[in-house]
Amino acid sequence: MPDPLASDANEDWRCLDLFAPTTEHALLAETLEEFVAREVEPQAADHDRSETFNAALFRRAGELGLLGVTLPDEYGGAGLDAVASVRVLEALSSADPGFALAVLSHSILFAQNVNVNANDLQRKHVLPRAATGEWIGWMCMTEPGVGTDVLAMKTRARRDGDHYVLDGIKTFITNGGVDDRTLGDAFVVYASTGERSLTSFLVEKGVEGFRLGQKWSDKLGMRASFTAELVFDGVRVPVGNRLGAEGEGTLAMMRNLEIERLALAAMSTGIARRCLRVMVDYANERQSFGVPIREHGQVQRHIAENFAAYRAARTYVYDTARRIDLNCTGQRLDADGAKLVASQVGKRAADAAIQVLGGYGYMGEYVVERLWRDAKLLEIGGGTLEAHHKNITKDLARDPSQLR
Ligand SMILES: Cc1cc2nc3c(=O)[nH]c(=O)nc-3n(C[C@H](O)[C@H](O)[C@H](O)COP(=O)(O)OP(=O)(O)OC[C@H]3O[C@@H](n4cnc5c(N)ncnc54)[C@H](O)[C@@H]3O)c2cc1C
Repeated sequence: MPDPLASDANEDWRCLDLFAPTTEHALLAETLEEFVAREVEPQAADHDRSETFNAALFRRAGELGLLGVTLPDEYGGAGLDAVASVRVLEALSSADPGFALAVLSHSILFAQNVNVNANDLQRKHVLPRAATGEWIGWMCMTEPGVGTDVLAMKTRARRDGDHYVLDGIKTFITNGGVDDRTLGDAFVVYASTGERSLTSFLVEKGVEGFRLGQKWSDKLGMRASFTAELVFDGVRVPVGNRLGAEGEGTLAMMRNLEIERLALAAMSTGIARRCLRVMVDYANERQSFGVPIREHGQVQRHIAENFAAYRAARTYVYDTARRIDLNCTGQRLDADGAKLVASQVGKRAADAAIQVLGGYGYMGEYVVERLWRDAKLLEIGGGTLEAHHKNITKDLARDPSQLR
């Protein structure tokens, strides 16, 4: 055990960049900066307005290796960790949270889920296609009557020889379709196989009985991601498409939710950073009563409070990402904690940015009204604020020693 008081140990510790701890992370950050400025930002407002998913940009992200940062090299991924994943989602979200949500659903809820919970044969079949974006994938958990209380889901999987038969409806599924008529390519589907027992399955499009239901249009935000209902009507899925053993779906889901929540938290810090930038630039330029508005104490309060909150939330997100093991479960406390804090920081920063910009903040051209609409989803999707309250209290009550 190194002596923490020795000067070498202290120097090493001070060199650590929490947000880009290795050369690979720093290179990834550079790629992202260029991609976001040149290709993501210019299309964001149009896709928000038209409520359409940009499939071409998604495939471009695949070409740049941004869809598979956590997937193993042998399957076309970069073999990186949760920090890399968080970095990708934060950067994309700073320009286009709707597009970022589609990337998150594909790369984490679908591809990373398969990576951790599938067997080698299944990985070989799915991951190379997911890493390039040849396949657009998604995850189906939520149902019309069941969200937070996920173990009460009604979609059933009944064993019939060497198949399972799936019946049920899933809703609010990001990437469920590519457009109004086209299904996504492959799906991780959770279904009940007994009393509070879930199993996960890989379902590919083209199977009889499986179809796109209604598209959710007129969403408050995240309009650049496609949100759909999916119908499973006697869908026959080979036993070979089961991910893990029967009944292991709950554990698989919980493990995947941890990295999902952290990535969603990073989307919020991306929104907060962008809003701060807009606020600061505007406060420098806009004059009132003969001075730039940055001279007014109440404007300073908006900037300073949100800056400090952003820095605190971002540090919590990256510190949790540094410690999280993508193959394990049991790291829920801080994944929930980071999302609980960051999602509210993102929403407040967007609200403050609109306030600082006055009437201009209310107009689409100034971006922050879109970010404000998008920010709200992060207090709901992947676990509501109330679900985080419940989980954090439960985890601390069970093991108070986690409170270090
Ligand atoms: C744009 C968008 C994209 C989405 N993408 C996906 C996706 O790709 N895949 C997917 O499976 N799902 C997806 N979802 C669904 C999302 O994860 C759920 O909406 C979320 O988990 C909440 O579930 P619910 O909407 O059914 O609300 P409910 O669970 O019905 O909750 C309603 C209210 O009751 C509160 N509540 C419920 N239970 C408790 C409790 N025990 N204690 C205290 N309060 C409680 C909630 O916090 C909330 O305020 C998406 C949703 C949206 C809006």
